[in-house]
Amino acid sequence: MAVEEQHYDFTVIGAGPGGYVAAIRAAQLGFQTACIEKEPALGGTCLNVGCIPSKALLDSTELFYQIKHKAAAHGIAVQGLTVDIQALQRRKQSIVHRLTRGIEYLFRKHGVTWLRGTARLVAPDRIEVTDADGGRSMVTSRHICIATGSAPVPFPGVPFDEERVLSSTGALALAQVPDHLIVIGGGAIGLELGSVWLRLGARVTILELMPTILPGMDGEIAQQAEQVFRHQGFDIRTGVQVSAIERHAEGVRVFLQGGDRLEGDYVLVAIGRRPYTEGLGAAELGIRFDARGGISVDAQYRTGVGQISAIGDVIGGNMLAHKAMEEGVAVAELAAGKRGMVNYDAVATVVYTSPEIASVGRSEEELRREGYELRVGKFPFSAAGRARTLEETDGLVKVLADARTGRLLGVHILGPHASDLIAEAALAMEFQASAEDLAVSVHAHPTLPEALKEAALAALGRALHL
Ligand code: FAD
Repeated sequence: MAVEEQHYDFTVIGAGPGGYVAAIRAAQLGFQTACIEKEPALGGTCLNVGCIPSKALLDSTELFYQIKHKAAAHGIAVQGLTVDIQALQRRKQSIVHRLTRGIEYLFRKHGVTWLRGTARLVAPDRIEVTDADGGRSMVTSRHICIATGSAPVPFPGVPFDEERVLSSTGALALAQVPDHLIVIGGGAIGLELGSVWLRLGARVTILELMPTILPGMDGEIAQQAEQVFRHQGFDIRTGVQVSAIERHAEGVRVFLQGGDRLEGDYVLVAIGRRPYTEGLGAAELGIRFDARGGISVDAQYRTGVGQISAIGDVIGGNMLAHKAMEEGVAVAELAAGKRGMVNYDAVATVVYTSPEIASVGRSEEELRREGYELRVGKFPFSAAGRARTLEETDGLVKVLADARTGRLLGVHILGPHASDLIAEAALAMEFQASAEDLAVSVHAHPTLPEALKEAALAALGRALHL
């Protein structure tokens, strides 16, 4: 039987934030564009089992936590407070549904064709697409962009069963509050999902191999965050190595090197994500991979095979949705002969705990290792009027500037709404601003961003409210 064949100018494999944005931008630039996605909903990890559902649960549980523990400080007494986990999960799912349908709408609006099925590269300009019923079709395309994302890394020898041994996907979908959730990995995903269930009453133990949680973040910020999280009730154990996980009918047993043993009803394995290229046929075409299994690309996201490029989590680097989206825009613009690029120095990272943690640029440790002489300015939220009115005084803003030129090299925030505050710092970094530029900008009063201005003033040795 003849296999149906279609032709496009620009075909994207994967409809996560990297892929769907690349497809929309390519269509805007006049390419006949298709996006192949194997899952029944568009949006990839981010919309379906990542950023959006995790933030939905974090926002619901933070509201619960605020009412339970913080309302009294405002003189508000609440009695009979309960949580309906099923309702909370339904709300999460309805947000995911609405947003993934939103991508379908955007595809229709911009004229992107969604090809439902699993893609396999069979030649530098040909992709075989297999749909859910096993039906096959062939796509030929002038440009191909791989945006197949990433998958969670299991603990060695212990596959995820999503019943007791959970990846982030399972931890997002629990139907009841665990008695004891053991989290392996003190990074963003472990801390965010740990926070969700801690706020609802679970005992949560975080096991981290490195000497502090959030390895890679500015050390001072990570240390202060750890203190705040311990105070919230997290049992955080750093510098510990898990040697084995055992599953039994009612729960899990986690063994630590040195002989300790923990009993929990679930273990969340949050030790990282790895690029996903299963069944893609990339290696067979001669596409090269780096040591961590990511697709190797040059500065213009080219794989070196035909006109095949790759973006997002599958090329490694910081696995972030906004990084993937910017690469999606860049790759489409490069294909159109424009100047597409991403300024990685100005890509912010956020951990949506409470308080939030956000950073852009390099940490103090990295900069000192690189030999920079620094001006360091810090401003605690306890000295910020608006943080006081919010009753959110934990944390600080830390500004790192080149002592010679004044140029901003890093901004790190632990505090309320850090995810929003970091946008100003990212913009400043994009404009190659100096600490002075931040310090002399007029900030409305009373607002949280004033803490950023004050930290910049502190870097210049002239903080006003310290
Ligand atoms: P993905 O989103 O993984 O999308 C890849 C798509 O490709 C998938 O839909 C997949 O089905 C499809 N695909 C794969 N192979 C094929 C094939 N052969 N054929 C057809 N389709 C295929 N990032 C943030 O920036 N902020 C956050 O708050 C945040 N929170 C997160 C929370 C969790 C719990 C997790 C797990 C991740 C979070 N991330 C967050 C990371 C973010 O989700 C990823 O960085 C982002 O989704 C990567 O986008 P991508 O387009 O590269 O890949």
